[in-house]
Amino acid sequence: MMSYVTGLAVAVFILLVITYGVSSYDFFSSINDSLESELNSLDQQFTQNGIDGLEQFVEGRAQKNQFSRFTYILVDQDFKKISGTLPIWPKYKEWSDGWLSFGMGFNDYNNEKKVFNFLARSRTLDTHHTLLVARVADDVRQNIKLLAGSLLWGMLIMIALGLLGGIITSLITLHRVGIINDAIKEIMRGNLKNRIPIIEPLDDFQHLSISVNSMLDRIESAMTDVRDVSNGIAHDLRTPLTRLRNNLSVLEKRADPKNIEMVQDMIAESDHLLSTFAALLRISQVESGAKRANFSDVNISQILTDVVELYEPLSSEKEQHLSYIKSPECIVFGDKDLLFQMLANLMDNAIKYTPKGGSICVNQVYLELGKDNYLNIEFEDSGPGIPKEKQAKVFQRFYRVDESRGVSPGNGLGLALVHAVANLHDSEVLLSNVNFYEKENRGLKVTVRFTLDR
Ligand code: ATP
Ligand code: MG
Repeated sequence: MMSYVTGLAVAVFILLVITYGVSSYDFFSSINDSLESELNSLDQQFTQNGIDGLEQFVEGRAQKNQFSRFTYILVDQDFKKISGTLPIWPKYKEWSDGWLSFGMGFNDYNNEKKVFNFLARSRTLDTHHTLLVARVADDVRQNIKLLAGSLLWGMLIMIALGLLGGIITSLITLHRVGIINDAIKEIMRGNLKNRIPIIEPLDDFQHLSISVNSMLDRIESAMTDVRDVSNGIAHDLRTPLTRLRNNLSVLEKRADPKNIEMVQDMIAESDHLLSTFAALLRISQVESGAKRANFSDVNISQILTDVVELYEPLSSEKEQHLSYIKSPECIVFGDKDLLFQMLANLMDNAIKYTPKGGSICVNQVYLELGKDNYLNIEFEDSGPGIPKEKQAKVFQRFYRVDESRGVSPGNGLGLALVHAVANLHDSEVLLSNVNFYEKENRGLKVTVRFTLDR
């Protein structure tokens, strides 16, 4: 905005300087022309009729009862007045191009003495005669002052109007961009059905919105296709898998004691497959945003306490030091079961990836930043952490950091679900490495940040 105003002011200023220059040049050149032509006609009189003729001509001009802007003085070689309407040869200042200027006292209409300013040109007629024609310049000055004043006002008014126009246009633009922005935010929140509203009459913004809307239609249908295919696979394989698993447990009862261990392994394997499919289907369901329909006010602090209590035995089995201080209750708008699952997955990771005898710290921090209130739920552990370059990837389905593959069981779906649930609740998941007990770059800190009072 500032640069727009400065640009406008500079442009208007340049325009006005040019206008001022051109018009004052015009003004002076017309005065110059009139003085020159007056000198020429006097010069002509002198050459044709001599000094007497000139005097008569000047006398005639002065006596004709008509208004004349010009005053004259004819002097001899000693600059003594021979004739004319000026009382004496003036003391003038000489400018470039033969311009002369001087001031001289006269009585004005009220018989008061007043100094008038003159612009003049002189010409030497012959060795004994010099002629000077002068014109009162006060009106010229007045006119230039008037011109400058009106140009200045013009400039101020133009800047004010330009500013007003700029403010109105940018407010309208901001409003429209705001509408588009709101629609896009809503889509990013998972409401893929949302579109940018189109308001008649169609202008550039509306055409842009129409294009964005049709792009969203294409993306939505492509995404639905992909989701449908993977959901279809997970869904369709679940029934035969369940049947297989049931048959295996029937077989387990009848199996030869030699084979029983093998059958049990097969049962465990199919349970694992079934749970993977269930997790996949769950993530797609969360991502579809359908769960938003059963949102309600949920006491997130209570959920966190429940999760910590549920996992405490697992942690103490690994002789870990688990610290959690119950904090005041905090309410968020969301799905209770999904929030529980999300925090449980994070707790599970912390315990799983922290070695025996390590430390885990669970915190609930309430933050006020500007006019927004946030709730941070943090899980800090003294495990191996996640290298910076892999932090963005761990939210993808099936991604596991190489080191984890051999060491601990898992599918790499836990954080994908955490991410989907956080998105559904307009919250963020932040990862950072902490120096737990001052060890170099050790341990992971996962923060789930909810925005409150929205
Ligand atoms: P699942 O949760 O499906 O049983 P998983 O725990 O391997 O399997 P995620 O929870 O999605 O999958 O985690 C992805 C990867 O991120 C893990 O394989 C692990 O390498 C890394 N990771 C997650 N949490 C931690 C942590 N607290 N410390 C170190 N690495 C972690
Ligand atoms: Mg996990």
